[in-house]
Amino acid sequence: MRWLPIPELSTTLDGLNPASVQALRISRSTKRLDLLATFPNLISLDIENTSIELLDAVSKLVHLRHLTLEPFRLHTIQAVGHLSQLRTLILSSSGWGRTIRIASFAPLRNLTRLESIQTNLVPEDGDLLPLSASPAMQNVLIAPGLYPLNYLAMLAASIRPEYRTGTLSGVVPLYSMADCPKCRAKGTRVILSGYRCGSACTACQQDKLDRHKKRWAELIDEYSPLRRRPGVVAH
Ligand SMILES: [Zn+2]
Repeated sequence: MRWLPIPELSTTLDGLNPASVQALRISRSTKRLDLLATFPNLISLDIENTSIELLDAVSKLVHLRHLTLEPFRLHTIQAVGHLSQLRTLILSSSGWGRTIRIASFAPLRNLTRLESIQTNLVPEDGDLLPLSASPAMQNVLIAPGLYPLNYLAMLAASIRPEYRTGTLSGVVPLYSMADCPKCRAKGTRVILSGYRCGSACTACQQDKLDRHKKRWAELIDEYSPLRRRPGVVAH
């Protein structure tokens, strides 16, 4: 087995010895994508190009543990649902300001070993819960401004409190030294989780920040699984 150093990667899969390759990066210029399904030992795959034919080939790579898909368009992630060995999955459009809508995240429910997922795709059915369905899930990295506040809170409530970080904590620090446009303080702005929830300044908009945190905490409480099961008492 050997890992191919990225600079030496061929732009064609033709000519590689399939059995010796464990990691591949497929750029938009890679040719002979039909050969992808013939790499039996592939455990890591990074793809910029997501044609239907390519995803069909990906669905046969059942030993994959790490998959990155950076699609420009994608209608379904059905193929990903076949990869039951996946530990980490990145499903992110790479274009700035470009929203990619897929039918549903439901195929992710098959990935019971998934530990980490990063995405900015938007499901037409609105259901974010498949992102946390894996019993091994520890890390859900999701964009703060693309999804309604209550859907994000429902997702956060479905994972263990120690894993509610970033967007799923309700408030995301904005790592920018740009001045607050209102009070001119530096490095004080945070993004509030939830579509159209915007941002706040910790120096001059404490009221707005507190209202958002209170609403977030109420929603987490409302969606908490213990509260939804009658007869179960939290200790
Ligand atoms: Zn301010």
